[in-house]
Amino acid sequence: MVDQPTRRSLLQAAAATGAVLAAAPAMSQAAPSRPVGAPADPQTKYVSEPFPEQRQKWPGLQRDMTPVPDCGERSYVGSGKLQGRKALVTGGDSGIGRAAVIGFAREGADVAINYHPDEEADARDVAGLLRGEGRKVALIPGDLTSQRFCVDLVRRAQSELGGLDILVNNAAYQQSKKSIDEISFEQFDRTLKTNLYAMFWVTKTAVPLMRPGSAIINTTSVNAVDPGEELLDYATTKAGIAIFTKGLAKQLAKKGIRVNGVAPGPIWTPLQVVGGQLPGELGKFGQDTPLGRAGQPVELAALYVTLASGELSYTDGSIFGANGGLGTI
Ligand code: NAD
Ligand code: MG
Repeated sequence: MVDQPTRRSLLQAAAATGAVLAAAPAMSQAAPSRPVGAPADPQTKYVSEPFPEQRQKWPGLQRDMTPVPDCGERSYVGSGKLQGRKALVTGGDSGIGRAAVIGFAREGADVAINYHPDEEADARDVAGLLRGEGRKVALIPGDLTSQRFCVDLVRRAQSELGGLDILVNNAAYQQSKKSIDEISFEQFDRTLKTNLYAMFWVTKTAVPLMRPGSAIINTTSVNAVDPGEELLDYATTKAGIAIFTKGLAKQLAKKGIRVNGVAPGPIWTPLQVVGGQLPGELGKFGQDTPLGRAGQPVELAALYVTLASGELSYTDGSIFGANGGLGTI
């Protein structure tokens, strides 16, 4: 992946250059500049300034966010790791799912993207980008809280791609509420339907279609082990996803299908601007991690790609974190 300069890193680079020019004789004391190809400082590799407060109607569009999340559109470079593979990603229009879709496609996979019908604009953006690069992309909009749709989704993905050997259960519903008093019966039901029931419906339908060597990846969260107190229902589902991942891995090992999970910390995605954070809290989002910033979706792409590829053939039933140093998972 190519490093993306942030506003802060550009300013720092300019400041460093200025200092060098102004104090040429004392050049050895100037901050060392980064040689071409050297790794970037993870503290400043992506936006590290607090995000501006903003709010969108659910489910939100990442193209309307400030700043727009970085899903690797301009930076992810593949090397044929998933040549000929067929992947279905739920919530693949935006955020972390979109970063996985871009990673998979650039590694040579054909992809089916599921999203809610109100996210057509984000889905078309990423499909247009990847089709322009010669990849096959199937767009399958629909509401995952419907059991019938979940079953249909998997069958359509398989028939449109001509197979299915990577499944990413990534879609989720998250609404922050200060106390259990404010979590309505409807919210609880919808959070469980989207995050747990849909994962079960989709996975149960997909497994008989998958051959040995296939991979299932579920998106869980740091909330699975350290629940935010304002995310009671959501955190409950994320812990359920983690344990489903481990239990299913035991079952499917005998079929040669690996099941793993990714547990992100604070990542800049639409989920956060449609009620995922309490009002007025976006400026703090990610700032309290040891790296001092929220992550960008592209920073997780390699995790999904590697878990999907055959490289990690002995890695099964495991959860991998990406949380800026929180050390949660
Ligand atoms: P996102 O808003 O980009 O993705 C969530 C997606 O869920 C939406 O794009 C939408 O397509 C899908 N979705 C929700 N309800 C749906 C429904 N009824 N029907 C169809 N699709 C539906 O946000 P994201 O942060 O990239 O979320 C992806 C995953 O990452 C989720 O599982 C989330 O819990 C997890 N996660 C995110 C963070 C974070 O800080 N952003 C942290 C931990 C875990
Ligand atoms: Mg979306």
